[in-house]
Amino acid sequence: RAKEAGKGVYALYDKSLHTEFKERMTIEKHLRSALDNEEFELFFQPQVDLLTGDISGFEALIRWNSPDLGFVSPLSFIRIAEDSRLIIPLGEWVLRKACHFMAEMSRKQYNHFRIAVNISVIQLLQDNFIPTVLGILSESGIAPKCLELEITESVFMESFERIVDKLEYLQSQGIRIALDDFGTGYSSLSYLQQLPISTLKIDKAFIDPLSDNSYSQSFIKTMVSLGHEMGLEVVAEGVEDRSQLAFLKMTGCDKVQGYLISKPLPERNTRELLEKWSRKV
Ligand code: C2E
Ligand code: MG
Ligand code: MG
Ligand code: MG
Repeated sequence: RAKEAGKGVYALYDKSLHTEFKERMTIEKHLRSALDNEEFELFFQPQVDLLTGDISGFEALIRWNSPDLGFVSPLSFIRIAEDSRLIIPLGEWVLRKACHFMAEMSRKQYNHFRIAVNISVIQLLQDNFIPTVLGILSESGIAPKCLELEITESVFMESFERIVDKLEYLQSQGIRIALDDFGTGYSSLSYLQQLPISTLKIDKAFIDPLSDNSYSQSFIKTMVSLGHEMGLEVVAEGVEDRSQLAFLKMTGCDKVQGYLISKPLPERNTRELLEKWSRKV
């Protein structure tokens, strides 16, 4: 009987695991050909400078529209691309696209803009990550200060020294490093001082409860002054309403990004946004 029960439990567990496994396999299979089939598109979400009210640049965000699977969120396929190492060619494609779009903006009146690109730890650990970045930078012709690489705290859990060295080198070349999703990781504050970063991105999780929660107000104020104390630029992500914006302005936060300003947009719409933009905040 015990054996039977055990078997039943196992079967149930096994089934859900099996479904998940199949789902991952399906995504991975389609991912393999997606790059060659040009199924990816890069979207851009504006960041606005709270002091001037002007757009100061964009974060590049990948979109995958698979003919077989439909729209697949990066939240589900990036992990699979990392595990299968497909993130290496994919990440390179993103970086190249983003830098070329920045180059196009530079040729207009936007050479002070910055393009932010999400970078996976798998890319960072690659031996040729630095030459790849520098190569794409010079082929696109943009200034290093126009490129910001977004990483999360988790990248430092792997070969800390190596990652720090690489990021320091990229910074010494003028490229900016942003710590994404700040406040959601596990690293302690003392650790933060050792990281070669230029920007703190306060995670949306802290912005969401802003209007109805005074604790979150204290958290944000503390994060903004901590960032500034360390000489970092502070960006708030996931800003969706005016009251959040007003509060962030009051704290001295440097930049905001979120649906209130704009959702991530395809290239064409990004150009249109730039043309019609006039101080929204
Ligand atoms: P992230 O880098 O923290 O990007 C911010 C996410 O928040 C984006 O989701 C963006 O669309 C969303 N967002 C921005 N403003 C708002 C808002 O006001 N409200 C709400 N509800 N959401 C907002 P997305 O594009 O689905 O990307 C999710 C995550 O996938 C990213 O988080 C990033 O970790 C990863 N990702 C996206 N593109 C790339 C890429 O090219 N390479 C890598 N390695 N990761 C990427
Ligand atoms: Mg990001
Ligand atoms: Mg983020
Ligand atoms: Mg995130």
